[in-house]
Amino acid sequence: MGSSEKKLITFTLDLEDHRLDENLPERYPVITDKILGFLDEHKIKATVFTVGALAEKNPQLIRRIHEAGHEIAHHSYDHTPLTKQGRNQFQEHTKRAKDILEDIAGEKITGYRAPVFSLTKDTLWAVDILKELGFEYSSSVLPVANPLHGLPGAPSTPFKWSNGLIEIPAPIGKVGPFLMPYLGGFYFRYLPFGVIKNQVKKADDSTIPWTYCHPYDFDAEEKNWRIKGASVPVSLLLWINRKNTFSKLERLTDSFEFSKPFKDQNFKKVKQIVDPATL
Ligand SMILES: [Zn+2]
Repeated sequence: MGSSEKKLITFTLDLEDHRLDENLPERYPVITDKILGFLDEHKIKATVFTVGALAEKNPQLIRRIHEAGHEIAHHSYDHTPLTKQGRNQFQEHTKRAKDILEDIAGEKITGYRAPVFSLTKDTLWAVDILKELGFEYSSSVLPVANPLHGLPGAPSTPFKWSNGLIEIPAPIGKVGPFLMPYLGGFYFRYLPFGVIKNQVKKADDSTIPWTYCHPYDFDAEEKNWRIKGASVPVSLLLWINRKNTFSKLERLTDSFEFSKPFKDQNFKKVKQIVDPATL
């Protein structure tokens, strides 16, 4: 067995409603069902980071995902970046969404992902709140400088915050002179498949390569392209190049094996400890 070919990828989906205007048609449930079909066909069990307010509105969708054997994890209450929240609001909103998700899934929610990688130098106070709320892992760090959010200086392989919370940072690849999270969002949509495949193969053995797709990444038919919270040029980038997402994932499943959801992975071997105060 060629070990580099057999590198395990974790499939993660960020389930959020990106519509700028609530009156526009709600397209994510249909797209999510298509994604569930794809996962089922390829026998992949994913971790689905879910926005609490979306779950509150559409509990039956979350139940379907959970019943299909995927992990329900937490992706904030209403997708407000941590950088736009204070500690108290973060604590309240995160608790509220955790209760909603746990009610629907009927089990403890142990994983958290910050909206748009907003766990940065300015929001490291969130690490203790997540631990206090009972989370076991976070997948919220983009460990490079980035125009939006990033935490340069953080390890690029899984590590443990000094309070015991596990962090699973976004996998970073070096494409030309640029460091970027090649397995998700528009990076995944824009990079040629060969480049993506190479990055996974090249990744350090202790890296956990994980995809982070959103329902809109698959939605080539959506008419309106303005994304909530994004500028016009960024919205445009997030809108185009969506029609190949399934076929790219298909090729990824041809080349690599997929792992279990995060909650079922063994993080006991994670030894590196990071004190947030040192970043
Ligand atoms: Zn998100």
